[in-house]
Amino acid sequence: MTPPAAETAFGTFFLPGPTEVRPVVRQAMSGRMISHRGAEFRALYARLQQGLRVVFGTSRPVFVATSSATGLMEAAIRNAPPGRVLALVNGGFSERFANISVACGRAVDRYEVSWGAVHDAGEVTARVRAGGHTVVSVVHSETSTGALNDVRAISDAAHAAGAVCVIDSVSGIRGAELRFDDWGLDYVFTGSQKALAIPPGLAFAVASGRFLAAGEHDRRGIYFDLAEFETNAERDETPNTPALSLYYALDVQLESVLTEGMAAAWARHAAMCARTGDWAARLQRDTGLAVAPLVAPGHRSPTVTAILTPPGVTPRAVVRGVAERGYTIGGGYGKLKDSTVRIGHMGDHTLEGLDGCLDACGEVLRALGR
Ligand SMILES: *Cc1c(COP(=O)(O)O)cnc(C)c1O
Repeated sequence: MTPPAAETAFGTFFLPGPTEVRPVVRQAMSGRMISHRGAEFRALYARLQQGLRVVFGTSRPVFVATSSATGLMEAAIRNAPPGRVLALVNGGFSERFANISVACGRAVDRYEVSWGAVHDAGEVTARVRAGGHTVVSVVHSETSTGALNDVRAISDAAHAAGAVCVIDSVSGIRGAELRFDDWGLDYVFTGSQKALAIPPGLAFAVASGRFLAAGEHDRRGIYFDLAEFETNAERDETPNTPALSLYYALDVQLESVLTEGMAAAWARHAAMCARTGDWAARLQRDTGLAVAPLVAPGHRSPTVTAILTPPGVTPRAVVRGVAERGYTIGGGYGKLKDSTVRIGHMGDHTLEGLDGCLDACGEVLRALGR
């Protein structure tokens, strides 16, 4: 397969990952190779650290892995303190997190709520006290459903019962507020291809010093041993050969991320979420079609909305119709595959671009629902 050649207008690609990448960021990847054990690389790494620390709200090093985000999801469990895991499950990615704990040999209990719902912090404390878990795993923005967990409250709840809390904020970081240091978090990771809006292939994590000190020592493995990342970070290096081309893309992208600022980025994403919810409510009112967001107001992720498709209208047909109008949206994920479509309003998207996408979705849903 040859990669798609045609340049389409920016603001048409609304998949909930990978997200649309600006041409200037893609072009940055054609930079020449350098030694990853030289001064030029260390300067690049140090510069990236400054930006990434702002993104996570931390003064800790931000580990950069050459892997997709799932790599640092596995690292969460491999490096967490020994003992039982309470896995908070409310969708496809939190389910994956639970499965990784099992695969890493942990005893796992699930605190499962329906897909589209969020978890209750008080319940987390109660369950950890009763079950003696040492680790709680949670997904911030459940990309399969569009639900946003209150990870600050859940982390506090885990701490109140003596457990650490490992947080998947893959589609959260830069779209939904998260302050690593201020909120006293233990471990948070994300990937490059969601709201950070660079191509897939890098993953980022912050671990508190306390989390690393309490961590598993015998079963961390090699590639995702965070102690190795920490040691290397001290000299502005990575344990293994980094994906240099993606670092160049990140370097360019961080400039505009910092120029916008985190608070403005969170507000822009919140506005895109609200616009999508308003659009669905209006379409439902005007047409009588059952097209509500899956998630109740107040619990919606700012970065992704799963929309229920009306009876008799398949997500596949919606995605295809929208594509014919020049826009890309996502189908349903996991057990929501046949009942939802997903709009990824994250990264560098704007309200204006989103309006175009929503217009296309509206036309298609009206036509199919007739
Ligand atoms: C995309 C995503 C992942 C998986 O990321 P990969 O980069 O595909 O490994 C995990 N969790 C959430 C919430 C995601 O959105």
